[in-house]
Amino acid sequence: MKFNHVALIGLGLIASSIALALKIKDSKIKITGYSRSQKTREEANKIGFCEVCNCYENCIKGADLVILCIPVGAMGDIMKTISPFLSKSTVVTDVGSVKESVIIEIEKNIPSDVFFVPAHPIAGTENSGPAAGFASLFKNRWCILTPTKEVPIAVIKKVRLFWESLGSKVVEMDAKHHDLVLSVTSHAPHLIAFTMVGVADDFSKITKSEVINYSAAGFRDFTRLAASDPVMWRDVFLNNKDAALEILGRFTEELFILQKAIRKKDGEYLLKYFERTREIRRSIIDAGQDTAEPNFGRK
Ligand code: NAP
Repeated sequence: MKFNHVALIGLGLIASSIALALKIKDSKIKITGYSRSQKTREEANKIGFCEVCNCYENCIKGADLVILCIPVGAMGDIMKTISPFLSKSTVVTDVGSVKESVIIEIEKNIPSDVFFVPAHPIAGTENSGPAAGFASLFKNRWCILTPTKEVPIAVIKKVRLFWESLGSKVVEMDAKHHDLVLSVTSHAPHLIAFTMVGVADDFSKITKSEVINYSAAGFRDFTRLAASDPVMWRDVFLNNKDAALEILGRFTEELFILQKAIRKKDGEYLLKYFERTREIRRSIIDAGQDTAEPNFGRK
């Protein structure tokens, strides 16, 4: 049930973390990789987490698992480019943060004798590029598989075991539901962070240096999210439009209610609200998804 040759398409944070984790688990496994820019290929080569190839064809030749580690909006085109090089029964998977549109784009372009098992590791940081990766990224983090009906159960199981070998906890979910869940837990919070940092930047009554020098923990946490890769996030919102708009609609309604409570000095409402949200944070800590240390354990 093991893959022998893993080909990484894209050599950024997620790809390099996969390779580093794989090498610890299985020192003999063959890992090849390709990234479109020479700069990224050179950087990956210097780090040495995989055999860096000079084209898609050489990267994929002989691979039994191909992982698309590129932005969501590029999946369809790259699938089309690599499809002539895929052998029969190769397993293709991806790591995209949106699933429904990726499945549509990939299925349009994938050969019929190749298996596709969509995946999304819920693990990442605000950093990108080959040097940003680290082996423990997926440890104890969820990886969501959104398999389609056409793929044999044995193939899905093999992909499940692959992610488990990297330390992930794996769950299967319908793609549409995945996109809704992630719009709540990841996409909307990022958009709110982008907005808050943008507002602070535009707010002319306080200077830019004041924003930077006196940034309190709340604002600093927003800036961490707002520093995430712009291309990745542009693609996430363009490809998960409906779910993102639904959640943002609810968010706006809720914000108006809180605004009204502040204006009316309704302290009881505010207190109850903040007590409820504090409980959510406690549940995340209890589930082992974050640390209870103050300021996320940062010094
Ligand atoms: P990254 O560090 O920015 O690396 C992106 C890689 O994709 C680079 O190798 C880049 O190539 C390549 N690429 C970018 N645009 C491309 C295009 N149009 N055609 C072909 N290749 C292209 O990104 P990442 O964080 O690893 O993210 C990769 C995927 O993982 C995304 O789909 C993202 O949604 C998903 N994901 C990210 C996180 C996270 O927190 N970062 C978490 C879970 C899932 P060059 O450098 O050569 O241009």
